[in-house]
Amino acid sequence: MSEQLIFLDGEYVSKENAVISVYDHGFLYGDGVFEGIRAYNGNVFRLEEHLVRLYDSAKSILLDVPYTKEEMADIVVETLRRNNLTDAYIRLVVSRGVGNLGLDPFTCKRPSVIIIAEALSLFPKELYDSGIEIVTVASRRNRSDVLSPKVKSLNYLNNILVKIEAGLAGVPEALMLNDQGYVAEGSADNVFIIRDNKILTPPGYVGALEGITRNAIIEVAKEKGYDMQEAVFTRHDVYVADEVFLTGTAAEVIAVVKVDGRIIGDGKPGSVTQELLQSFRMLVQEDGVKVFDTKLNAG
Ligand code: PMP
Repeated sequence: MSEQLIFLDGEYVSKENAVISVYDHGFLYGDGVFEGIRAYNGNVFRLEEHLVRLYDSAKSILLDVPYTKEEMADIVVETLRRNNLTDAYIRLVVSRGVGNLGLDPFTCKRPSVIIIAEALSLFPKELYDSGIEIVTVASRRNRSDVLSPKVKSLNYLNNILVKIEAGLAGVPEALMLNDQGYVAEGSADNVFIIRDNKILTPPGYVGALEGITRNAIIEVAKEKGYDMQEAVFTRHDVYVADEVFLTGTAAEVIAVVKVDGRIIGDGKPGSVTQELLQSFRMLVQEDGVKVFDTKLNAG
C-alpha cells in the first residue's frame, strides 16, 4: 500500500511529518473546530452540509478559516484522491493555530488546517447485526446556552468523560442527559426512539448536535411516511421505547437493544431501525460529491 498522505497547512505530508507545534492553541486549549466526514463508494456524503457546519462553528468562535468552502471541498476530495480512497472517514480540523502560551486567541496568527483520511469502522460489523448495550451516565451535556452544541469545537472533554463512563461500565456507548435531566445525545452520536411507529429525536436546544446523519435519517423517515418529530424526552421514554438507535458519521445507524439494564423491545434490532439503516446505506452509495471524476458544485 502506498504511504498515507495527510493535508497539513497547504501540503500533503506523510504521517511522520504531519506534526504541529506544541504552541498550537488547538492543542493547548482545545481552541478550534472540526468535522468528521465520510466517503462511501467514491462519494463524499453531504460534504456541503459538513462544510456549512464547520464554517458556522468557526464563525461562532471568531475563527477565520483560511480557505473558502469551495477550496476546502476541493482539498477534501484531493486528500481522498491522493490516498486512493473511495471509502473513508475524513477528519478535518481547523485549530486557532500557533500563538503564545496565554489563552488569548489574538496571539495566533494563522489557523492550522489538517485533513486526515483513512479507512475506519467505528463498531465491529457484528454489533450492527446484534445491536449494542448502552447506559446513561452521570456526566451531563454542556448547557447549550454556555457552549452551543451547534459548535463542533475541539473541546470534547464533556464527551470524553461520557466515553470514560461507558468504558468503565463495559459498554461501547452511553447516553448523556442535559442539565435538566432530558435525554440529549450519545458521546459522538444522536439518539432516536420509536414507539408505536412514531419516531422521536431530541431537538438541538436540549443539547444535541445537529448531526448530518441525524438530518439524513429525519428526511428518510419522513419520506417513508413515518411520524417523525423532534421532541424532548426522558430516560423513561427510552426504557419503554419499542426501538432505540444511534446515528453518527462514524456510527452510521446502530440499534440499541439494552439501556441501563432494560431490554428494548425484544432485545434485537427492530424492524424500523433496520429499514432506516438499509435506506441510509443505499442513500450513502448514491448521494455525495464524486471523488474521482467531478468536483463539488458549491452554490
Ligand atoms: N453528537 C456529537 C456530540 C458528535 O460528535 C457527533 C459526531 N459528529 C454526532 C452527534 C453525530 O453527528 P454527525 O451525524 O454529523 O456525525
